[in-house]
Amino acid sequence: MINKGCAVVTGASRGIGASIAKILAKSGYSVVLNYSRSEKSVGEVLKTITANGGDGCIFKCDVSSRDEIDSMISFAVKSYGKIDVLVNNAGISQQKLFTDITQNDWNNMISVNLSGVFNCCQSVLPDMIRRKSGKIINISSVWGVYGASCEVHYSAVKAGVIGLTKALAKEVAPSGITVNAVAPGCILTDMLTNELDEDTISSLAVDTPLGRLGTPEDVAKAVLFLASDGADFITGQILGVDGGFC
Ligand code: NAP
Repeated sequence: MINKGCAVVTGASRGIGASIAKILAKSGYSVVLNYSRSEKSVGEVLKTITANGGDGCIFKCDVSSRDEIDSMISFAVKSYGKIDVLVNNAGISQQKLFTDITQNDWNNMISVNLSGVFNCCQSVLPDMIRRKSGKIINISSVWGVYGASCEVHYSAVKAGVIGLTKALAKEVAPSGITVNAVAPGCILTDMLTNELDEDTISSLAVDTPLGRLGTPEDVAKAVLFLASDGADFITGQILGVDGGFC
């Protein structure tokens, strides 16, 4: 397998992030798998990667902590020499009426889902700018485009990720770095099943023009494309992987 360099994937222990880590490793990247709590699960993901001939390692940290992110980025650069691809996938969700959202809920949503992206981008960019090369892929959401009832804070931060992506893409394009986002629709992961009942999940599948929920692999394939040479002239774009939802 040709080594394509190093990819850092946040939130790689489960769901979409685990699929992204596996597909990038399968295509030849050495992958740094970040997680915050699910130690056993991230171990299983790495086991699958190495069993298939891929390379990777695990780094535990909370994306909302700038110090911890700086440590992870230093670790990745020390281990692999440079970071070629950063995938900002780690995220949390919460279903609540807008009037019930506490200040703590709001701050937590911003810290993980938006400041987490800021922290990782700002930490990785000095090295990418020096090398005039790198690809950043942020995971937004269909709700950041469309807006979701009872997920106003989630929708707001995911819209923030879209704004960050478009603006940062313009700023770092002269340094040869691309910044894009994927906006997944309804993807069958813990995030969906922990927050929504079966009837709501079924109706989301019916509301999706392609007539089904997405899989983590559907999103991972789009990320792999944005990480590839095929996407060298694509930047500042928001790629919907939503079965036609938006
Ligand atoms: P998931 O199954 O709940 O997985 C979330 C991942 O994020 C886990 O690996 C978790 O790690 C990690 N994470 C959470 N908080 C973290 C923190 N503070 N620091 C580091 N890692 C943290 O969710 P998912 O469905 O795969 O979602 C992945 C991304 O896709 C999220 O950004 C989400 O908003 C977005 N998305 C999902 C859907 C969907 O329908 N599922 C739709 C649109 C967008 P630990 O378990 O170790 O904490």
